[in-house]
Amino acid sequence: MNIKELPEEFICRQQEYIQAVAEFNREKTLYAFVDTYGCQQNEADSEIIRGILQEMGYMQTDDENIADVIVINSCAVREHAEQRVLGNVGQLVHSKRKTNCIIAVCGCMVQQPAMAEKIKKSYRHVDMVFGVHALPRFPELLYRALTEKKRIFDIEQSDGVIAEGLPVLRKDKTKAWISIMYGCNNFCTYCIVPYVRGRERSRDPEKIVAEVTKLVSEGCHDITLLGQNVNSYGNDLDCGVDFSSLLEMINAIPGDFRIRFMTSHPKDATPRLFDTMAKCEKVARHIHLPFQSGSDRILSLMNRRYDSKKYRELVAYAREKMPGISVTSDVIVGFPGETEEDFEKTMELVEDICFDGLFVFIYSKRSGTPAAEMEDVTPRSEKVKRFQRLFDLHDENTAKMSKTLLGTEAEVLVEGVCTDQGEYNLIARTDGNRPIYLKGSPDLVGTFLKAKIENSSKWGMFGKISDRG
Ligand code: SAH
Ligand code: SF4
Repeated sequence: MNIKELPEEFICRQQEYIQAVAEFNREKTLYAFVDTYGCQQNEADSEIIRGILQEMGYMQTDDENIADVIVINSCAVREHAEQRVLGNVGQLVHSKRKTNCIIAVCGCMVQQPAMAEKIKKSYRHVDMVFGVHALPRFPELLYRALTEKKRIFDIEQSDGVIAEGLPVLRKDKTKAWISIMYGCNNFCTYCIVPYVRGRERSRDPEKIVAEVTKLVSEGCHDITLLGQNVNSYGNDLDCGVDFSSLLEMINAIPGDFRIRFMTSHPKDATPRLFDTMAKCEKVARHIHLPFQSGSDRILSLMNRRYDSKKYRELVAYAREKMPGISVTSDVIVGFPGETEEDFEKTMELVEDICFDGLFVFIYSKRSGTPAAEMEDVTPRSEKVKRFQRLFDLHDENTAKMSKTLLGTEAEVLVEGVCTDQGEYNLIARTDGNRPIYLKGSPDLVGTFLKAKIENSSKWGMFGKISDRG
């Protein structure tokens, strides 16, 4: 198998740095604050950073005023996310003055050399900057920052590798994200991800299965498999395991748990994937399938390599195989050159498909991508109007759909306690990831049960427990 794993000696060396920092910190009470922006992949990376920090002797906190180490794990997908990161990093100058903490900025945003340079020059209170590819070296970098007392910069450019065996600290015992692959080869013309996260590389299927087995034995009920395009899992491995076969392998693990995954690219979603989902009883009836635009002209300019007809066919096939499957998506409005006519096609697709969930984004120019060079004449005010129209249409769809579910029964997993829904004190999710609020004992958290939907509002559905599963 052709797996791009870092050698064991590398991981052992990082373990030694972890021990060295733990020794350095011995008999001190120290705190670390890890703040995450962006997608689930970043959340998963932050769980590794927290795992490393915990083994170094740091306790976790959400309060930057008491933290001895602050790590900001940044996102570069849209300009808005970058502005938020920069604003918050700027504010940390006060924490630095108060506690002389170590401040680190990592993740996709600083993998861009110009951004790393900007932080070096203009944010002098930042002690460490490390990109996505330097993450496995975090123990060594922090050790150096503590002992050498100088600023550390590591934004090595690379196609990417895989680090197995670093510690992970998961916040939630019942839910877990597991990266099954890293990077992206698709180069959608608007997107910065392939430039900062390197090429597609898949983890060893046996290691994924072992990780899920362990988590399930520890009481985890909800596993989400992560990748920028999970449908191309295994393409680089040469071992005959593709994403569908991986799903089958995980489905065969004994235990009471649900399998989710994201994201699926429509160009690689096949009937075989939906047939496999239908066969695997542990795979949630939910697919997140971003369509990005309803206009074929724009899809082609985006380099998405499918058209709206293929997209509609895929959703129809999935719904035929798994009636009631929840379909969610992402869409971009205001891509360079998008006309009113193109936008109408997006509205039509949203009207026809009636998504269970839709994330609407206004196009954000990312320098270095092909779309950044395309002529973009639509004024921002027009883009904002389109965003609102799409948002309103989706809201209407959701209200309609929730009404059709009134009186039906659903199997749900109780995820936690909530305090903002009046007498409904529990939040649960259906197989299709729809939130349902319930009344019941907090002891039910982590259990599967049946609930009858008795009410709905813009914010979600409200149910009554009908059966303890
Ligand atoms: N790999 C995933 C998505 C990663 S980014 C996939 O292909 O589905 C998550 C979402 O952010 C994308 O689906 C897209 O809708 C949005 N996005 C990415 N780049 C963007 C940009 N430059 N401007 C606005 N939205 C963007
Ligand atoms: Fe970006 Fe496209 Fe890759 Fe998703 S598939 S990460 S949108 S380039």
